[in-house]
Amino acid sequence: MVSASVDLRSDTVTKPTPAMRQAMAEAVVGDDVYAEDPTVNALEAEVAALFGHEAALFVPSGTMGNQISLRLLAEPGQEILCDSDAHIVTYEMGAAAALFGLGTRTILGDRGRFDLDAYVPQVRPPDWHTVRTAVIAVENTHNRGGGSVQPIDQLKALRAYADDAELSLHCDGARIWNAHVATGTSLAEYGGLFDTLSVCLSKGLGAPVGSLVVSSRERIGKARILRKRLGGGMRQAGVLAAAGRHALAHHIDRLAEDHARAKTLATACGADEPETNIVVLKLDGNAHAVADAARDAGILISVVSPSRIRLVTHLDITDEQVDRAAAVLPKLLAEEERT
Ligand SMILES: *Cc1c(COP(=O)(O)O)cnc(C)c1O
Repeated sequence: MVSASVDLRSDTVTKPTPAMRQAMAEAVVGDDVYAEDPTVNALEAEVAALFGHEAALFVPSGTMGNQISLRLLAEPGQEILCDSDAHIVTYEMGAAAALFGLGTRTILGDRGRFDLDAYVPQVRPPDWHTVRTAVIAVENTHNRGGGSVQPIDQLKALRAYADDAELSLHCDGARIWNAHVATGTSLAEYGGLFDTLSVCLSKGLGAPVGSLVVSSRERIGKARILRKRLGGGMRQAGVLAAAGRHALAHHIDRLAEDHARAKTLATACGADEPETNIVVLKLDGNAHAVADAARDAGILISVVSPSRIRLVTHLDITDEQVDRAAAVLPKLLAEEERT
C-alpha cells in the first residue's frame, strides 16, 4: 500500500473529524445576517466570554477579522505599527491600505517578538504635522517567527504604555490558542490586554472555516456593518459555527500534542526547539530543492523564503507520520547542504 503524503505545510490543511461533521450536520441554524442563527450567536457569546470581552463576531477568515479590527481602531489616513513579518502586512494583500486607507509602519523583530523599547520611539504623537499612530498590532503566536509566543511581561508593559499614550492595541490571535496552551496564560488574560482580537478556528483548532473578532459591544456593532460591506455576511452559518464550537470544546488542550510533535521534528532536523507547532529551518542550501525532494519522498513542507522551510504540526499529523518525516528530512537537508 502506498501511504498518503505527510502534510506539514500548514495547520490549515486539516479536515473536519467525524465528530465535528456530526456536530455540523446537527446544527440548529437561522439567517445570521438577521442575527438569527442560534449556533452562531452561541459561538460568539462563548468566544467573547473566553476572552473576557463583551462581544464577538463570526467572520469567514482571519484576514477579514484582522482588517475589520484595524478599521475599528483607526481612521483613514492614520497608521498601524507592527512587526515587519506580521501576517497583516505579509499575507493580507495590502488590505489595510487598499480597502481602508490605513498606513502601516513596520519594525524588525527577533522572530516577530514584540519589544516595547523598539516600538515606543516609532510612535508618532498626535500633532498637526505628522501621521497619527493609532494602533499597535501584535501577532501571537507569530507565524513567520516560527510559532513564537509573545512574552507576557512585554504585552503587559505595552498595555500600560498604550493607555498612557492613548493608542489602541490589536492582537492577531490566529494561533492564540497555541500560546495559551504553551504558557498556561489564560485566554481571558490575553483578552484583557487588547482592544480587539482576531482569533481563528481554522488553524490548529481544525474547523474548516471561520474566525472571530472579539471586542466591546459597541465596536462589534460597527464590525457587523464592516463585515456586511466586505461581503462577509453569511446566512445559515451555524453549520460552520457548530464546527467551531466543537473545536473549542475538544481541540484546545490537544494542541500540546502538536507542540510535542513539532519538538520531535525540530530535534531530528537539528533545529532550535520550537515554542509551539511551527518549526522554521534556516538552510545553507536551496529551500525549493529541499521541498521538491521532500515531496518526492511523500513529505509536504512549505518554503517561506529562498533559504527557509517551514514544518507545521496539526490535528491530522500522527506520531507515525512524524517518525516518517523525522527519518526522511534530515537526510535531504544534509544532501542539499553538500551540493
Ligand atoms: C492564518 C493566519 C491569519 C488568517 O488567515 P486566513 O487565511 O485569512 O484565515 C491571520 N494571522 C495569522 C498569523 C495567520 O497565521
